[in-house]
Amino acid sequence: MAVRTLLLGTNELDRAAALLRAGQCVAFPTETVYGLGASALNPQAVEGIFAAKGRPQDNPLIVHCASQEQAAELVTDIPEEAAALMKAFWPGPLTLVLPKGPQVPDVVSAGLDTLAVRIPSHPVALRLIELAGPLAAPSANLSGRPSPTKAEHVMTDLDGRIAAVVDGGETGWGVESTVVDCVSRPFRLLRPGGVTLEELNTVCQVVVDPGVYGELNQGEKPRSPGMKYRHYAPNAQVFLVAGDRAEECIKELAEEHQRRGCKVGVMVPTEHASRYSGITVLPMGSTANLQEISASIYRLLREADELRIDVLLVEGISEEGLGMAIMNRLRRAAGERIIFA
Ligand code: AMP
Ligand code: MG
Repeated sequence: MAVRTLLLGTNELDRAAALLRAGQCVAFPTETVYGLGASALNPQAVEGIFAAKGRPQDNPLIVHCASQEQAAELVTDIPEEAAALMKAFWPGPLTLVLPKGPQVPDVVSAGLDTLAVRIPSHPVALRLIELAGPLAAPSANLSGRPSPTKAEHVMTDLDGRIAAVVDGGETGWGVESTVVDCVSRPFRLLRPGGVTLEELNTVCQVVVDPGVYGELNQGEKPRSPGMKYRHYAPNAQVFLVAGDRAEECIKELAEEHQRRGCKVGVMVPTEHASRYSGITVLPMGSTANLQEISASIYRLLREADELRIDVLLVEGISEEGLGMAIMNRLRRAAGERIIFA
């Protein structure tokens, strides 16, 4: 029988660090989502992350560091503009892709000659890295499932598959870090997150990779290996409906699926919740406070499953600011089911 996963308090970081130093996988809170950490310089430990998550071997990991000096030791070059991004946004939800140093095991970067690095701003994550050294850490969910924003979500997915989870309560941003490729010129936004495109562009030029909108042409190689995988998907069929007629379209779709005997749910901005009656409404927060929405979307995708919703109709929002990261995740939860009404 599998050994149960330890649930540790934030006062037990010495114990968590000892497990990490011994080559075990430990989940911990960051300001974005929960990460599943393993010692970045220990290839066997890092292999444990792929095994626990069922993560495809060609999807590289982000290395989390406690200081800029530590990050600098893992890469061979930091271009001037990348240093400027570090200065402006570290510690925080920004990951930079840089040329990988030879001492970092290939399994971390899935064989790529580049390495994704960041410094998280969560005090628990920082302390753990100080005690255990740099940690390779993807989101602490089973591959393909919504990222965890609470320790309970990690337990649901990974209990018995990892050594421990440090419970630090709910994460802040709720969506994964912004990823910027600093190897190509101009720099490319590979994944939108808490640090917005508008903010990045106050420091240096960053262009949006078409993969962010799901617009990879057939046969084209994604810049970020993670882009090719379906992500963040609950068991329910998710439809993302955007445009001026979104409300009417959602109501029509809801009726159609209810007629077929499906349990339908709608996930909409809180200010629109009262427009939908006779349907389970999952209010996602106000468009006047986008962080409220980013913090809730993964939790709501998981709640939709707990409510045994078969069809989840999601109202799209504007792509401005944090809206870009929110819409990117919703598109990937919906897969092909995106409607412009
Ligand atoms: P996760 O930590 O689960 O959010 O996944 C990490 C994300 O960063 C994935 O989408 C990876 O494809 C991306 N990533 C990690 N390393 C690199 C790299 N060297 N080049 C491009 N993308 C990367
Ligand atoms: Mg992930």
